[in-house]
Amino acid sequence: MAHADKHIEISDGNRPRSRHQETEPMTRLFRALAFLSMTLAATLAHADILPAPRQVSAHAWAWIGPYDGPTRANRGFRMNLGFVVGKEAVAIIDSGYSPEMAEAMLHDIRARTALPVRHVINTNSQPHRFLGNDVFRQVGARVLAGREAAERMAQDGAMMANAAAGILGVASLSVPAAPDRLLGAGESIDLDLGGGVVLRVRHAGTAHTKGSLVVEVRPDRTVFAGDILYGGRLPALIPDGSVKGWLEAYESLRTGDAALFVPGHGQPGPLADFDHPTRDYLARLKRHMDEAVEKGTDIESAKATFDASDWKSLANFNELNGRNAYQAYQESEAEGF
Ligand SMILES: [Zn+2]
Repeated sequence: MAHADKHIEISDGNRPRSRHQETEPMTRLFRALAFLSMTLAATLAHADILPAPRQVSAHAWAWIGPYDGPTRANRGFRMNLGFVVGKEAVAIIDSGYSPEMAEAMLHDIRARTALPVRHVINTNSQPHRFLGNDVFRQVGARVLAGREAAERMAQDGAMMANAAAGILGVASLSVPAAPDRLLGAGESIDLDLGGGVVLRVRHAGTAHTKGSLVVEVRPDRTVFAGDILYGGRLPALIPDGSVKGWLEAYESLRTGDAALFVPGHGQPGPLADFDHPTRDYLARLKRHMDEAVEKGTDIESAKATFDASDWKSLANFNELNGRNAYQAYQESEAEGF
């Protein structure tokens, strides 16, 4: 459905017109009604999948998602996505879970500006950060990702697209082409959007995933931190990430003069808003597991004795806390060798 409005406009203009069709009022009326209803349906589909983007600073907007996992009902929208508008160009921060979602993003952007979309930044390698890339590439954007993130996309992209298609209940989702530009460890790049609006994109190492990118919007003092920051829901540790690296990436966010942080999940706010739900949780978990490994405590006892009561009220606590404990123990164990 997301393609319907564009498709109709193109095919309508190119349709060979016979004299009969031109002079048949019912056909023309029917065609006009069909066009209207499909356009309306496409507009409703767009309106359905995403909330209105919220302006978070002078040049930046964000779609703020709910905390649930991806489902057919939410059509995969359960994270934060963003865009930044300069005087000459637009940049996208994360392209969403599907081409349909990316089309909905583009629709919202087009309601605000006609400037070209020149850049897409994938803050990490998870499907909800990059499966919409090709929609923006088709309108002329270049995609920037962390080197390790691009490696994971290349290796697991087909599997991720298949899984997403299954969740969304669609026959298939195409795997986006490889990113156009990569940032390696320690690297950063400035993307000039015109009018003094510059995105400083920095490789932040391995946090929630390898090859995490952080996007600072200048002069807005606003940072899109991707999944380095979680607010309102429990962080998720996955084998591709590192608790140690994540804590370092978190501390690196303090170095700039940013006043507002847009997390990967949760409400935007000052960095202090994320101390409890992200940093303190990870730090407590890391210390507990380091000590357990050092004492030779087995994984089950280490998990059972981790006191996570301070974070119980966060969304997804029940699904994630036990899994996180296993993951953190294994990392501490691997570091012990
Ligand atoms: Zn995420």
